[in-house]
Amino acid sequence: MRYNNTYVNLDTRLHHEQPPTPLENPRYGHFNTQVAQQLGWTDDNELMENWVDILGGLYVPASFKPLAMAYAGHQFGQWAGQLGDGRGLLMAQVIDNNEQPQDLHLKGIGLTPYSRMGDGRAVLRSTIREYLCGHALNQLSIPSSNALGFVVSDTRVRRESMESGAALMRVADSHIRLGHVEWIASFAPDLLGEFTDYMIDTYYPECRDSDVPVLAFLTAVVERTARMIADWQLIGFAHGVMNTDNLSITGSTLDFGPFGFMERFNPSWINNHSDYTGRYAYQNQPAIGHWNLNVWLPHFMRLEGITRDTLAECLAPYEATFMQYYQQELCQKLGLPHQSESLALAFEWLTLLEDNLLDYTNSFRALLGLISPDEHPYERQLLTTLIAELDEEAQTVWQDWSTRYTAQVQSLSVESAIETMKNHNPVYVLRNSMAQRAITAAEQGQLEEVNRVFELLANPFSIQDIATDLDTTPPSPNAPQKPISCSS
Ligand code: AMP
Ligand code: MG
Repeated sequence: MRYNNTYVNLDTRLHHEQPPTPLENPRYGHFNTQVAQQLGWTDDNELMENWVDILGGLYVPASFKPLAMAYAGHQFGQWAGQLGDGRGLLMAQVIDNNEQPQDLHLKGIGLTPYSRMGDGRAVLRSTIREYLCGHALNQLSIPSSNALGFVVSDTRVRRESMESGAALMRVADSHIRLGHVEWIASFAPDLLGEFTDYMIDTYYPECRDSDVPVLAFLTAVVERTARMIADWQLIGFAHGVMNTDNLSITGSTLDFGPFGFMERFNPSWINNHSDYTGRYAYQNQPAIGHWNLNVWLPHFMRLEGITRDTLAECLAPYEATFMQYYQQELCQKLGLPHQSESLALAFEWLTLLEDNLLDYTNSFRALLGLISPDEHPYERQLLTTLIAELDEEAQTVWQDWSTRYTAQVQSLSVESAIETMKNHNPVYVLRNSMAQRAITAAEQGQLEEVNRVFELLANPFSIQDIATDLDTTPPSPNAPQKPISCSS
């Protein structure tokens, strides 16, 4: 691997160097060969032979520089003060095969000075959820952390009940969160200039060419965040805990806790069981992204030449960026060009889904069975299921809508619509029940289901033999939602 351990050279107030605290008897959980190749991990025998011990904290290669980062944050809209890596360590920074910086961060590997009341561990349940979700989003081409692999262990961890401890080697282009800047502003404001230079040079070097690099950088963070959240809305992803300490400065999805993928379409859906007010409900995500950036940006007024007005200009394009990208891609999901007729059809379609609590993923995919039934038997079956769920009144709405929609597609190119729709509407997403089945088996020591779900999500846009009906069946419309615990 090409090491690029630069964070360790920043001011010592920003981090604490320490080794991991090993897990008991760490064992193979899963290994992501594609990520390993991208990192150059596979070219190094020492890493390949010792990967389980490295992830279990038993062995630290000489080129690694493990450290815990300090950060702060706003949690559920309230200032939470100092947080920091309480159970994870930045193990190494590298430049990958695409010339991109990547952080290797080992999560669940013991106490740090930032652990507060926690035990420094991560349970197998949340480790598997994070592992599969990062993989799922990456394969759906949504900017997200991923992972090199995870290990299981004999360490017991107390949550609501006793669970198995595990560790995940998370890989992300950056582990700097909005909350890093909030920490500096509160606890070491003299470091803001140096730290901003570091963020620009490491993650946004193209901004150096701009007249005011800081403003170019902040504008780029705003834009990337808006696009990431548009991607979430389009795929039906709810992050669940959009605190400022869980948002990366690179606009890449980070920190998976009580996340979920939309099943029966309900924009006010709250996946996080502990989110009593619905602050992080699916439909609130775009506004929360704006809220987070709005509390974050004013810290930069400490820098010379940065004023409230110039910061307002950085934030102003957020909504338009989000809308433009969201609407364009929403039209693509229907195989239509981005124009007002397409958008009108798209919003009517979403209303039909919402009014009838139809499955978000299956319904979009089912449209291929409408416009090209002969070539798409799987999607034709999805369509039959969809129509069977509609009552008489909804059938009439559907008939009217589908006639207009089909005419619109046929007036353009059916062939290109099919191509676009196949690339924009996955067959498989990580439904909570899928993750749960993989977890239940893994807790009994059986990892085959983790492996199968991993393989399935490696090609989410293709119909696969290894799928079962359970992978594509939503809960019944009136089933009480299973709570997703915040504990991890
Ligand atoms: P999260 O809700 O996972 O984003 O974590 C919020 C903060 O709590 C971060 O500073 C975490 O490092 C810390 N934290 C969460 N769980 C633990 C744990 N089991 N032990 C120590 N710190 C934790
Ligand atoms: Mg977090």
